Amino acid sequence: MAADCLFCRIAGGSIPAAKLYEDDRCIAIADIAPKAPLHLLVLPKEHLVGAPDIDGSREALAGHLLKVAADLAREKGLEPDGYRIVINSGDHGGQTVGHLHVHLLGGRPLGAMG
Ligand code: 5GP
Ligand code: ZN
Repeated sequence: MAADCLFCRIAGGSIPAAKLYEDDRCIAIADIAPKAPLHLLVLPKEHLVGAPDIDGSREALAGHLLKVAADLAREKGLEPDGYRIVINSGDHGGQTVGHLHVHLLGGRPLGAMG
């Protein structure tokens, strides 16, 4: 938990947010500025800045975040048409919040990645 981290505060409950999913390792919330009809974020409760923190000790956690995103996609009915799972990393990756998170986007054709 990093006291000055937005997503730590959301995961810890000090900033209220509707949790669409929660377990001992992660939560899922709706993105505040959705880029698709369904745009969810899956974030670990542990404060990790981003993908570079996924070392060997976090391999299971990283897999868990992807599994939760895929489960949510199924639950939300995205499977037949497909969806996108994204992790942005650093400046060139377009990361704006320095707490690891997996984006789940779907509900419209998302086009080629540019
Ligand atoms: P990034 O650009 O770091 O990959 O993604 C950060 C995402 O967090 C953006 O899509 C942004 O809309 C979302 N976001 C930023 N602040 C908040 C917030 O306070 N609550 C929620 N639910 N999403 C946020
Ligand atoms: Zn954090």
